[in-house]
Amino acid sequence: MSDSEAGADPTADTVDGNSSIRRVSDWDADRLAELAAEHGTPLYVQDLDRVRENCERLRGAFPDADVRYAVKAHTGRRVLEAVRESGLDAECASAGEVDRALAAGFGGDRLHYTAVNPPARDLDYVAGVAEAEPDLTITVGAVDTLDRLAERGYDGRVCVRVNPGVGAGHHEKVRTGGAAKFGIPYDRAAAAAREAAERFDVVGVHAHAGSGIDSDQLDSHRELVARMGELARELADPSDDEAPVDIESVDVGGGFGVPYKEDAPALDLPAVADATREAVAPLPAGVDLAIEPGRYVVADAGVLLTRVNTVKPTPDERVVGVDAGMTDLLRPAMYDAYHPIRNLGGGRAEDGSDAPAPDARSATPVTVAGPICETGDTLCRNRALADPTRGDLLAVGIAGAYGYEMANQYNSRPRPAEVALDDGTATVARRRESLADLTAVERGATRNRADRTDRTDRTGAGR
Ligand SMILES: *Cc1c(COP(=O)(O)O)cnc(C)c1O
Repeated sequence: MSDSEAGADPTADTVDGNSSIRRVSDWDADRLAELAAEHGTPLYVQDLDRVRENCERLRGAFPDADVRYAVKAHTGRRVLEAVRESGLDAECASAGEVDRALAAGFGGDRLHYTAVNPPARDLDYVAGVAEAEPDLTITVGAVDTLDRLAERGYDGRVCVRVNPGVGAGHHEKVRTGGAAKFGIPYDRAAAAAREAAERFDVVGVHAHAGSGIDSDQLDSHRELVARMGELARELADPSDDEAPVDIESVDVGGGFGVPYKEDAPALDLPAVADATREAVAPLPAGVDLAIEPGRYVVADAGVLLTRVNTVKPTPDERVVGVDAGMTDLLRPAMYDAYHPIRNLGGGRAEDGSDAPAPDARSATPVTVAGPICETGDTLCRNRALADPTRGDLLAVGIAGAYGYEMANQYNSRPRPAEVALDDGTATVARRRESLADLTAVERGATRNRADRTDRTDRTGAGR
C-alpha cells in the first residue's frame, strides 16, 4: 500500500508478499480518508483480502492441522464467508454464532460448538441443528453439560474440554487455561472422556489456554500442548485395562498473538507451529492436531476510523475528543489494551486554513477520548501523535478482532458502520445503526407483567 515503505517493519517476515503483520502505517491513507468521507465516522474497515492472507499463512504453518476460526473475534457475514472459502472450519461459542456460521455456508462437518455454561436456549437450538447436521461437534467442559445434552436426545459427536492447569494471555480477564470455569480438570479428563464415550461419539479433546500467546509465552503453550498429546495417547492406549477411546483430533486452542504495539515483533508463526508439533508428538494414528485462532485471522485486517471533534489543552494533558468511544472499541477500557493510532490529517488549523499534512506536524503527547460519560473512555493517554486538530481523521489500528464484536449501545450510542474491502472494492457490510434502532426492542415489547416474566423464563427450560 502507498506508504508501506515508510512503515516497513524490519522484523516482519514476508513470504510471497504475505507479511506476518499489517501495521496501521501500512494502510493507504487516501483510501481510508475517502471511505470516511463517503460513509461517515466512526467507521470500521475490514479488509477481506488480508483475512484471506492470514488464513493462508495459518494453513501454511500448520499444513496437517485442522484450523478452526474462533468466530467470536469477528462474526460479520463477509468475514465468515472469506474464512470458509479459505478452508478453515468454524468454532462457535453460542447458538447465535452457530446460526451465523450456518448462514455463511459452513456445513455441520465444519462446525464446532463450544458450550461454556450453555444456557438452555442455546442447547435446545444446537441439539436441534444437530438433527439436521449430525456431523456437528459439541465441545463440553462439564459432566453436567453432557447430561443436559443427553436429556435433549443428543448422542452425537462430542469433544471433551480439558482444563490444562496452565494459562496464557495478554490480560487476566482472557486467561482461561487455569480458571476453574473452563473445562474438566486435567487429572479427571481421561476418565470423563471414557465415561462420555458410553453415551456419545467422543471425537476429540480440547484445551484453550487464553488469548495473546507470544514468543515469550511459548513455554506455557508448549506445556499445554504436551499435556494434551499425553492425554490423546492415554485415551488411545490406556495404561490400565480401560477401553480405548478413538478420537480424531487434539485441539490445542487459539490465542495466537498479534503485535498491537508498533515496535513489537510479529508472532513467529512457523516457530510456534514447530514448537506445537514437537510438544504434541507423537500423536496416535488417525489423530490430527487442531488449532482455533480467532484474533490472528482478523485483527490486523481491520481499522477503526474516527474524526477529531474537540481539542482541549489542559494543564495536565492535551485532550483530543473523537467520535468513537468505548462503545465502538471496548478493549482499551476493558483490558487496558493498547491500539496503535495514526493521524491521517485532513483537519483545519486554528485560523481555518487546511492544517499541514500529519508528517509535517510535531509529535505531541495527547489523550484521545471518546464521547461516553466514563473516565475510562479513552483510546490512549499521553501518546505522541502528529498534533491533532479539529477535523482530522484518526485510524485506530489492529481493530479487526473483538472490535465491532464488543460494540454496544451504552449512552444510547448507535453502533458504527463497517465496510468490507474485497479486492479493493468497498461495500457496506454492516450499516450504521440509527436512533430508531436504539428503541426497536422497546417498541416491540408488550407490557411487562409478572406472569409473563415467568413464562419467558420457562421458554428456555427445554425438554
Ligand atoms: C476465544 C477463544 C478462541 C480464540 O482466541 P483468540 O485469542 O482470538 O485466538 C479459541 N478457542 C476458544 C474456546 C475461545 O474461547
